[in-house]
Amino acid sequence: MNHTVDLKDKKLFILDMDGTIYLGNRLFDGTLQFLETARKNGARCVFLTNNSSKSTKEYIEKLRKMGIECGMDDVFTSVQASAIYLKANHMNGKVYAAGTKAMLNELLEMGIDATGRPDGNEGVVLQGFDTELEYWKVEAACRLIDNGAVFLACNIDKVCPVEDGYIPDCGSICKMIESATGKAPHFIGKPEASMIEGLLMKEGIEAKYAVMVGDRLYTDIACGVNANVDTVLLLSGETSLHDLEGSSVAPTYIMKDIAQLGYEIRRI
Ligand SMILES: [Mg+2]
Repeated sequence: MNHTVDLKDKKLFILDMDGTIYLGNRLFDGTLQFLETARKNGARCVFLTNNSSKSTKEYIEKLRKMGIECGMDDVFTSVQASAIYLKANHMNGKVYAAGTKAMLNELLEMGIDATGRPDGNEGVVLQGFDTELEYWKVEAACRLIDNGAVFLACNIDKVCPVEDGYIPDCGSICKMIESATGKAPHFIGKPEASMIEGLLMKEGIEAKYAVMVGDRLYTDIACGVNANVDTVLLLSGETSLHDLEGSSVAPTYIMKDIAQLGYEIRRI
């Protein structure tokens, strides 16, 4: 990929969270310094998450506890991306928000005509990472899809890592519906281009002025590549140099950690 705009001149840093700016509940050395340098450069920093079970507010609270100043505009979730996708594609008809109450509220706040209690007339099923899943919800989604509703899903992740292992995520719930209906959803979150495209639309920033920063090749970096923005792979999380050798996904830049990125964008 040709780097049209130098890292020092980027206007938008899109940051993955876990493995990129912190690990679990431990903020990485260099994160606060990086954020300060980026802001001094006049760049925006937006934190990105595929997790469609939690609200934007919950993420803001977590970041603030770690000492990161941020507001509602600084966190972008796959639920927000889904709302933008629905609007951009002029999808008419009510949306069955098959997910948590937090997901439904977020969609309503963004002006989407959504319900958590479908009556059979919804034109779109939007499946999320539903940690409040009950059987009737799966049944309702299948009926709507069988009747021709568009099947969308917030994020493709099959599992969500937790302290003692993992819990099933949106991708696994979708597999159950796909198995029953024979229809697969269109996914919105990383690595789909729609995740970053939605954010660029919201921010009003051209792709060449944005850069995606993350620790996973097949979600973060692939998402940047798909949306045609430069990418920085940080080796502070899931990916090692060894993983890069066999990968077809090529980051624009590879760096040790967020501290190095902060150093690279310093204007002297
Ligand atoms: Mg990560």
